[in-house]
Amino acid sequence: MSQERKGCLEAWVPRGLLTREVDVLSARVTAEGLCPLRICWQDGRLCSFELIDADVLSPKRLLLPRLAEPHAHLDKAFTWLDFPNLHGTYGGAMVANFKERQSRTLIGVRQRAERSLKLALRHGLRAMRSHVDSLGPATDSSWEALLDLQRQWQEWMELQWVALVPIEHWSTREGDQLAGRVAEVGGLLGGVVVPPFDPGKTRDSLRQMLQLADRLGCGIDLHIDESQSHPAAGLKQLLLVLDRMSITVPITCSHASSMGLLPPGAVSRLADRMAHHRLNVVSLPLTNGWLLSKQPRRTPVERPLAPIHQLQLAGVTVAVGGDNVQDPWFPVGNFDPLALMAFSLPLAHLAPWQRLGLAPFTTAAARVMSLSWEGTLQPGSPANLLLLEAGSWAEALAVPPRREVIVDGNCLQDLDQ
Ligand SMILES: [Zn+2]
Repeated sequence: MSQERKGCLEAWVPRGLLTREVDVLSARVTAEGLCPLRICWQDGRLCSFELIDADVLSPKRLLLPRLAEPHAHLDKAFTWLDFPNLHGTYGGAMVANFKERQSRTLIGVRQRAERSLKLALRHGLRAMRSHVDSLGPATDSSWEALLDLQRQWQEWMELQWVALVPIEHWSTREGDQLAGRVAEVGGLLGGVVVPPFDPGKTRDSLRQMLQLADRLGCGIDLHIDESQSHPAAGLKQLLLVLDRMSITVPITCSHASSMGLLPPGAVSRLADRMAHHRLNVVSLPLTNGWLLSKQPRRTPVERPLAPIHQLQLAGVTVAVGGDNVQDPWFPVGNFDPLALMAFSLPLAHLAPWQRLGLAPFTTAAARVMSLSWEGTLQPGSPANLLLLEAGSWAEALAVPPRREVIVDGNCLQDLDQ
């Protein structure tokens, strides 16, 4: 095993990921915003950046930081074959998910999560936030399996867990106890706010959940408005609650899909209020595209999706996540951030050669997850790198590229030996 933690490489690097400490003013930048650089590292940290002649770059390589997945479900990944949802509806997913949960075991969760982590590591991820179904007989064994894996994988992957329960559960005695255990292991409180619901009861549940999270110092990550009806109904209730209380813990709104169905002026006003309350958003285009607005023999042309660009314009941090992988909620996917970027190009009009098109997969994802390193490249950054065999963004996204992963200065392949 190589433990020198030093090396050098030449590659195209997105200029938007280089900080001012790296002088690229005289660089010949491609139309896609890529700079040709020689980057060296020592003791697991980047130490030098040198502009090189673009013509001598061979083979063609594109360099990224290792990436972060802000929204996954490791406990149910790879359950599609045994619990399919062939009509691909939200209701069908709920039913199949419920059935699967009745037979969930510690070993099953462990095997599926481990398979997920191996794929994620090789595909270039360094951190993942996963929601964990936390109501019902499999709750304790799921958490035991996942926390054990977290200890084993700490060198390779930073893992965050969100306890996923109906939001009213946080107002019960069992919910309070669960929150205490989640706080002890550094987890977050989660929940689902999807219409139709009683607005008053929903506000009460949200208020109690927010108070509990704030008291325990836990972040919050909600599945909110994953729906094609009642545009932004959940967000509006959350904002009403936040208008009347002061919360210091970070709050993430995952999905926020139906907000995209509002008229432009309403989107803009809501986005401003979300920015005011420092809400983060994780948009999940793949599952939204598959599950929402589904009707027999009708192709939906209007698709619920978080209005990513408008939220960014208002100053909201927006990340994009992969969500479900081969489970009743989504039949495909394999924890590949490059595939997610490729799909997001048509689904969300996010182009990685634009700063705000790349941020949801890099710096914004790290910010939503409160990671210590945002994934920008400068002297002193961790040598956590993802090297793609591609000479341009278009080539990198056309087919999943071959890649090399460097973890704290060591090449992953060397570490295998
Ligand atoms: Zn989810």
